[in-house]
Amino acid sequence: MEQQLVYSFGGGRADGRKDMKNLLGGKGANLAEMAGHPDLKLPVPPGFTITTDVCNAYYEAGRKFPDNLEKEVASALKQIETLTGKVYGDTANPLLLSVRSGARQSMPGMMDTVLNLGLNDETVQGVIAQTNDARFAYDAYRRLIMMYADVVMEKAAGIPPVQGKGIRKLLDEHLEAVKKKRGFQLDTELTEADLRQMVTDFKAIVKQEIGQAFPDDPMAQLWGGIGAVFDSWNGKRAREYRRIEGLPDEWGTAVNVQAMVFGNMGDDCATGVAFTRNPGTGENHFYGEFLINAQGEDVVAGTRTPQPINDYSKNTHSESLPTLESIMPEMYAQLDAHQQRLEAHYQDMQDMEFTIEKGTLYILQTRTGKRNGTAAVRMAAEMYQEGMIDGPTALLRVNPNQLTELLLPRLDAKAERAATPIAKGLPAGPGGAKGKAVFSSEKAIEMKRAGQDVILVREETSPEDVDGMFHAAAVLTAKGGMTSHAALVTRGWGKCCIVGCHDLDINEAKGYFATPDGQKVHEGDWISLNGAAGTVYLDQMPVVDTDLADNEAYQTLMNLVDQTKVLGVRANAESPDDATNALRFGAEGIGLFRTEHMFYGKGSEKPLHLLRKMIISDTEADRRTALDELFSFIKADIKKTLSIMDGKPVTVRLLDPPLHEFVPHDTERLRELAKELGVKVSVLKKRVLVLHENNPMLGHRGVRLGISYPEITETQVRAILEAAAELNQEGKQALPEIMIPVTCSRNELEDQEKIVQRIYDEVCTARGVDEIPYLFGTMIETPRAALRAGPMAEKAQFFSFGTNDLTQMSFGFSRDDIGGFLPIYLEKGILEADPFQVLDRRGVGELVRLAVERGRKQRPGLKTGICGEHGGEPQSVVFCHRIGLDYVSCSPFRVPIARLSAAQAAIEYPRD
Ligand code: ADP
Ligand code: MG
Ligand code: MG
Repeated sequence: MEQQLVYSFGGGRADGRKDMKNLLGGKGANLAEMAGHPDLKLPVPPGFTITTDVCNAYYEAGRKFPDNLEKEVASALKQIETLTGKVYGDTANPLLLSVRSGARQSMPGMMDTVLNLGLNDETVQGVIAQTNDARFAYDAYRRLIMMYADVVMEKAAGIPPVQGKGIRKLLDEHLEAVKKKRGFQLDTELTEADLRQMVTDFKAIVKQEIGQAFPDDPMAQLWGGIGAVFDSWNGKRAREYRRIEGLPDEWGTAVNVQAMVFGNMGDDCATGVAFTRNPGTGENHFYGEFLINAQGEDVVAGTRTPQPINDYSKNTHSESLPTLESIMPEMYAQLDAHQQRLEAHYQDMQDMEFTIEKGTLYILQTRTGKRNGTAAVRMAAEMYQEGMIDGPTALLRVNPNQLTELLLPRLDAKAERAATPIAKGLPAGPGGAKGKAVFSSEKAIEMKRAGQDVILVREETSPEDVDGMFHAAAVLTAKGGMTSHAALVTRGWGKCCIVGCHDLDINEAKGYFATPDGQKVHEGDWISLNGAAGTVYLDQMPVVDTDLADNEAYQTLMNLVDQTKVLGVRANAESPDDATNALRFGAEGIGLFRTEHMFYGKGSEKPLHLLRKMIISDTEADRRTALDELFSFIKADIKKTLSIMDGKPVTVRLLDPPLHEFVPHDTERLRELAKELGVKVSVLKKRVLVLHENNPMLGHRGVRLGISYPEITETQVRAILEAAAELNQEGKQALPEIMIPVTCSRNELEDQEKIVQRIYDEVCTARGVDEIPYLFGTMIETPRAALRAGPMAEKAQFFSFGTNDLTQMSFGFSRDDIGGFLPIYLEKGILEADPFQVLDRRGVGELVRLAVERGRKQRPGLKTGICGEHGGEPQSVVFCHRIGLDYVSCSPFRVPIARLSAAQAAIEYPRD
C-alpha cells in the first residue's frame, strides 16, 4: 500500500489523532483530535495536514514534492470545498485558505503562517459579493500580499532583506505613510478605497523590490505557501531555535492547510488566545485575551492592547476594557465549555486559539501550554489533588530545572519598598533580576560573553531576538501583551520578563530609553526588574531568595517526591549556615562538609593565620602548637553543623587545602609569622619556596598530607569525635562520617584508620563513654581508587565519589584550564557536553559503576554516594539512581532539583 501523504480533518471526522505528532506535527495532530474525537468534535475549520515525511522526502529529492502529493492535495481540497460550500479559486464563491506550519514540538513564532490564500483581482470580487463588505475583502487581500511577499517570496526564498529592512517592513511603512497622510491613528480607519489602492501599491512595491510579481494564480499561491513552510524549517531562525533547545533537524515540519475563518469582518467578530489555567501562576482559572475585529497575528504581535476574556484576566493595562464575557456572553459560554472539555480530554493545561466570525465560534489550535516553574508545580500538584492525574504523572510534569525558578532570587522586598519604579508593565514573570540595559540582541550576547549581566530592552521582540533573549538575565519590552512573543519565549525558559511597558520611550538605534518624567537610561546602565509585579527600577537592587514553607503546591509535590524516590539526597555544605539551608531544601544529610571555608572571608583572620603557621612550620612540635590552637575552631564548626543536622549523617572530609593558595607572600605577613615562630624572615622565605609545586592539583594534598603529617589527621579526628561525643551526651544524635580525600590505595586508608582508631579510644576514655557512632570511609576521586575499589572497601565503610576530581583525572582535563579548548570540543561535536557539568556516563560513570560493584562485592553493605557538582544535575542523578548508589549530594540550592530528578528516575527505572 502506498504511504498516505495527506490527512484530512473537519466535519466531525479526521484521519489523524493526537498521538500522531511525529507524523502530523503538534498542530496537525491536535487539529485532527479536536475535529474528529468523539468526546470533542469541536468547531474546527476543515483542512488537511501534509506529513513530516513529505518534508523529509522534499529535502531528500532536492526540494521537490513527491509524485503523489498533487493528487492527494487535490482530493483533500475537494473535501474542504464540499464542507464549506466554497470553491478554491472560484470567482463567484471563493474559498480562502491558510497555510500553517507545525513541527512535533511547538516553536513559538519560529515558522511562518500565510493567511487568506486564494485572493486575486477576480476572486476578491467574489468575496465582496458573498460578504457584502468590500473594505474587509481588500483588507484581507493586502494582508495576503504582505504575508506572502514576506514569508514566501523573501524569507523562504532566502533572498537578503530588501533595502536592508525586508519587504514586510517596507510595506508596513507604506501603510503608515498612507495613514499619516489621511490623518488616521488606527488601521481600522482606512476606507475601502484606501485599501483597494493599497493592494495596487503593495503589488507594485513587491514587483519593484523583489523583482518578481505576486502570483495571481490561487494554485501557485497554495504551492508557494506549502514549499515556503518546508523551506522555513531550514531557515536561520528555526535552526537557531533548534540548536538552543537541542531539537534534531531530522524531525521536519508538517504543513496544515485550512479553510479561513475571519475575526476581522466587523465588531461582531474577534480573535484571541486562551489558557485553561493561568500559565503565569498556575491558578485553576480560565485565562485569556482577545481583540475585536482582528485577524490572526494581531493578538500576538502586540500592536493593540488585547482585552481580557473575563474579569479574572484583567491586568493594569486592560482593567478598563470590556471583557468577552460581558460583550459576547453566548460566545464566552461556548468557549468556556470547550476549554473545559479540552482540559479534561488532554488532562493538562491547554493553550488555545479561537476566532469568532459573526456569531460563530471556531477553535483554531490547541496545545499543551507552556508554563513557568511556579505554575508547573502548582498545576501538577492541584491536578493530582483534583484526581485528574496520578502521582507519577504529576511528578513527570515538572522539569526539575524549572524548580530553580521557585528558589529563584527576587528583588529584596525592603529595598523595593524604598524605591520608586521608573515604569510599570505587564508581569510576564517570574522572579527578579538586575542587569545592564542593552538594546540589541547582538549587544546582549557580546556583553554576556564578557561576563556581564544584561537586560535586553526592546520595543517588542521577534524570533530574530531569541539568541539575545537567551543570553539576557531578563527581557523588557514596551509593546506586547501577556501572550506576546517575548512573554511566550521567556515563559518557556522561566526567565524574568516584563512586557507592554508603554511608559518607556525606547530608542533602539541610539541605545537608550526615556521614562515618562524624562530620565534617560543608556546602554550599560543598571536596571532591576520585578517580573512578578511588572515594575522596573533604576540601578541595581539586591536580589534575594524566596520562602518555600508557605508554598502549598510545592510541599504537596515534594511529599510525592519523597514517597517515590529511592535515591537519597544530601547537600554539600561549607558552613553551619549551609547546613541550615540544606535542611530547608529537604536534604537528608550532608554528603560533603568541607572545613576549609573557615580560612576564607569574614572571620577567617585567626584560623587562616593558624593554618599558615601550621603549613610553614618545619617541626612536628611547631605544627602541633598551631594545630592545637586551630583545634577549637575546627571543633566548634563541626559541632555546630552536627547539631543542626541532629539525627542525620554528616560526612566530614578531612582537610584538602591547596597549600600554595594559603602560603603568605606579602612581607608584612611573613615578618609577623617569622616573629611568632622565632625564625628569620629569610628562613621563612626559603620554606615558602620549598612548598612551591609545579602541579599543585596533583601535589602534596589530601591524604598525602595526613600521611606525612599524622598530627593533621589526628587533630581533625579528635575534633569530630569530641564534638559528636558532647552532642550525644547533650541528648542529640550526631552521625559523623570521617572521609579521607584523594586516596589511591588501600594502604593509605590502613595508615589513616590506625590514627582514627587510636584517637577514638582516647576520646572514649577521656569522655567516659563506651561508644561514639561514626563511619570511616573515603572519597573516590582518582581512577586508581575506583579500580582498586575492592581492597579500598576492606577498610572503607563508605565511598563518596568526588566526580569533579575524578573527571579531571580521568580525562586529564584541568578543571581550571578547560575553557581554552572546551568550546571547540563542543562545537566540533567531540564532546556532547561539558563533563564537569554533566557526568560523563561512558567513561567516568563507568568507573563509578565499576567501583560500586567491586566495593560491594568486598563489603556488601558499603554505602555509596557522589558529592561532585554532578549531584544536582538531572541526567546525572538519573544515572546515579540506575547504577544503584545510595545517595547524591549537591549544593543546597540544587537539592530540590536532585530530589525531583531522583523521583522521576524511580518512576522511569524502577529498582527491583
Ligand atoms: P503559530 O504557530 O505562529 O501560532 P498559526 O498557524 O497558529 O501560527 O497561525 C498564526 C495566526 O493565524 C493564529 O492567530 C491563528 O489562529 C491564525 N490562523 C491560522 N489559520 C487560520 C484560519 N484558517 N482562519 C483564521 N485564522 C487562522
Ligand atoms: Mg498558533
Ligand atoms: Mg577533590
